[in-house]
Amino acid sequence: METILVLAHADETGSALTRASLETVTAGLELAARLSAPLTIGIVAADATAAASAVTATGARLLAVSGEAFAQARYASDAAVAEALCRAAKATIVLAPGTSRFTRVAAGVAYRLGGFIDTHITALGGAETVDVSRWFYRQRVEAVLSRDARPWFLLLDAGTHAAFAAEAATAQVEQVAVQLPEMRTIVSGFRAPAEDEQTIRPDAKMLLVAGAGWTKKQPDGQIHAAEAGELILGFLHATSSSLGSSKSLVDQGGEGEPVLPFLTHMNQIGQTGATPRHAKGLSTCCHGEEPHVVGWRFIADRRAISLDPNCGWTRGKADVVYIADAFPVMAKVNALLEAKKA
Ligand SMILES: Cc1cc2nc3c(=O)[nH]c(=O)nc-3n(C[C@H](O)[C@H](O)[C@H](O)COP(=O)(O)OP(=O)(O)OC[C@H]3O[C@@H](n4cnc5c(N)ncnc54)[C@H](O)[C@@H]3O)c2cc1C
Repeated sequence: METILVLAHADETGSALTRASLETVTAGLELAARLSAPLTIGIVAADATAAASAVTATGARLLAVSGEAFAQARYASDAAVAEALCRAAKATIVLAPGTSRFTRVAAGVAYRLGGFIDTHITALGGAETVDVSRWFYRQRVEAVLSRDARPWFLLLDAGTHAAFAAEAATAQVEQVAVQLPEMRTIVSGFRAPAEDEQTIRPDAKMLLVAGAGWTKKQPDGQIHAAEAGELILGFLHATSSSLGSSKSLVDQGGEGEPVLPFLTHMNQIGQTGATPRHAKGLSTCCHGEEPHVVGWRFIADRRAISLDPNCGWTRGKADVVYIADAFPVMAKVNALLEAKKA
């Protein structure tokens, strides 16, 4: 019989589990129920008992490693913790969120335990077996894998399961002792771009995509790149959406054409870019060509604003297309959002 372990870690507060961890808890519960297998949740946090209260309602066995040494991501301590939790749980299947923290250590931990790892898992299926899905070739080919090797580590992509949510309750947590190796890395702090600079937000409900049209000559024969930047950033500030781009727009910098300074290739959506998961997406000044739209595969509700009534979006790629000038439309949308806030 399988023994399932969900590895979870706290967010920067040190006492609450990350959303990706709670999504993995849901996946663990579903798998355990299907296989009638015992479920353990292993938590690493500064205050793991507080973090565990959010998953007490699962009824799972709760293991934890607590303390300030585990508040921050660091390879040596995180790998030691994950190894200790896996050994304590005697896990055969280990589910972990594909966060940067666990992605960094999971392969090393699998190696230490003589196990096997698969990453970017989007679904767990099978009847009495464990069959896992992942996408290859820029999300164009879906593969279903199963393995005999145990322990089998599976890193789950964020947004593929609902986050576990239940009334918080006092948790009965078994603390696991960890023998830390000599620490060569001291975490002195956390440096992140200011909220305004960070435009890629995988957890956002909505994706706003900017296309090359924003920096092209407009009907008055002029380019309005500065105004375009203000409209896009105004919308992002009001909605905390994530910002995507077409390839043409982010490539323009190299061609010496007008650019939007807050966009980089990291924002690019598409075949040679990212394939994010958001509930809604709004494309602006973008033609909707196939190599771009393939990156919208996991956007549930797609809308587009384009001047071109024959653009790719109108050919069945978007749910709603507004044939309109995005400049006045976005100005009006931003004004409505501001009025709503006030
Ligand atoms: C192998 C390969 C891989 C590729 N990978 C990617 C990829 O990963 N991602 C990607 O994006 N592309 C990719 N491309 C490029 C892709 O085919 C398109 O060239 C690109 O997406 C076009 O970008 P765009 O729609 O922003 O620009 P354009 O094609 O220039 O379209 C601009 C649009 O803006 C509209 N517009 C202009 N002004 C306004 C206004 N005021 N209001 C409303 N609409 C306006 C115009 O009508 C036009 O439809 C790839 C191509 C190849 C060959």
